[in-house]
Amino acid sequence: MVRHAARTFKECIHSPYSERGTVDDTNTASHNGLRKRCGCARRTWPKCPHSWHFNFKPRGGIGYRLSLDVELGRHIEGKTEAQTEADRIRTAIRSGTFHPRAVAPLDPSANP
Ligand SMILES: [Zn+2]
Repeated sequence: MVRHAARTFKECIHSPYSERGTVDDTNTASHNGLRKRCGCARRTWPKCPHSWHFNFKPRGGIGYRLSLDVELGRHIEGKTEAQTEADRIRTAIRSGTFHPRAVAPLDPSANP
C-alpha cells in the first residue's frame, strides 16, 4: 500500500468543511430568513416536526413573512427542503413574480 503525503494533506484541508457542514450553516442561518415559531431550541429545528416560517424583505421592496407549509400547501419537514423552497420564494420576490398564496385564497372553481 502506497500513501501519498500530499494527498493526505489535501484531504485534511477539505474535511472540516465537507464533513461538519456547520460552517456554512452558521454563516447563512441569520440571513436565509428561515425560522420556526415553536418552543423548540433552534438547534433542534431541523428535526422537530413543526412548520418552517420564512421572511424576506428585498432592499427597497415589500417584505413577506409566511409559513412555508401554508404557502406551499404541504408540510415541509427537512431544513434542506425548507431552504430550497425559501430560495425559490426569495427569487420570486426579487423578480416581482411572487404572489403569496396565504393572502390570496384559491378560487374554488379553479380546482381541477
Ligand atoms: Zn419545534
